[in-house]
Amino acid sequence: MAKIIAIANQKGGVGKTTTSINLAASMAATRRRVLLIDLDPQGNATMGSGIDKYQVSHTAYDLLVEETPASEVIQTETTGKYHLIAANTDVTAAEIKLMEVFARELRLRTALESIQDQYDYIFIDCPPSLNMLTVNALGAADGVVIPMQCEYYALEGLTALMDTIGKLKQLINPKLEVEGILRTMYDPRNRLANDVSDQLKQHFSDKVYRTVIPRNVRLAEAPSFGAPAMYYDKSSAGAKAYLALAGEILRRQESARITSLATE
Ligand code: ADP
Ligand code: MG
Repeated sequence: MAKIIAIANQKGGVGKTTTSINLAASMAATRRRVLLIDLDPQGNATMGSGIDKYQVSHTAYDLLVEETPASEVIQTETTGKYHLIAANTDVTAAEIKLMEVFARELRLRTALESIQDQYDYIFIDCPPSLNMLTVNALGAADGVVIPMQCEYYALEGLTALMDTIGKLKQLINPKLEVEGILRTMYDPRNRLANDVSDQLKQHFSDKVYRTVIPRNVRLAEAPSFGAPAMYYDKSSAGAKAYLALAGEILRRQESARITSLATE
């Protein structure tokens, strides 16, 4: 069964989409079967995976609103060796239409049930708000990866997100956990970034990934070539950092599995 991970932060520009694309590609490079779901109507994860959002026949809209089977909306021809469910502006309509349907928070979870056996990891790139699309992602997910930039107001936003995750865990998805907090666009020469990073580790200790994503121009350039950074510049610091993150996530999952075996 796939582990479903939502990549969420209601703040825009913190690296959600960059993390989605590059983590999906890195996991796929370790021979895991990976599906990336773009839930942001901006369709940046779609374009960054080499799929033209203006040309796609199906998007997450069909999955969420029309109840088209997941197998029919999946694109297999990405540049990153993973599969993709695309997004474009149609997905904005899904957010509105979902308001009218029964069990609207769990549409995505239900839609993924039939394909969960076909993947090892399903990543969901969330839009920059806590709207019904994000709620659907959190309703389907086992874990949330929270990318954040270590700047002054970052911690404030994090509290709101943690509250939402806590509430959704209680109300609709008891298995939901914070998978980890990821420091993105990190510049170790910046004193404020170091201070915020220290505070993060104090508050959230083990939840903060050891892997840090540096500010790296290759990560910003790769989407305009429609590819994950590792297929644009394999030796870039950005590509390597996301491979390291995939390794850290795999190790964490393995050690959690062994711990649960030991306590059975
Ligand atoms: P979000 O999805 O949270 O809005 P993005 O992943 O789109 O954030 O990132 C916002 C902008 O910052 C994009 O232009 C992206 O290319 C750039 N960016 C993201 N991560 C990095 C990084 N580690 N180094 C340099 N630029 C980055
Ligand atoms: Mg984005």
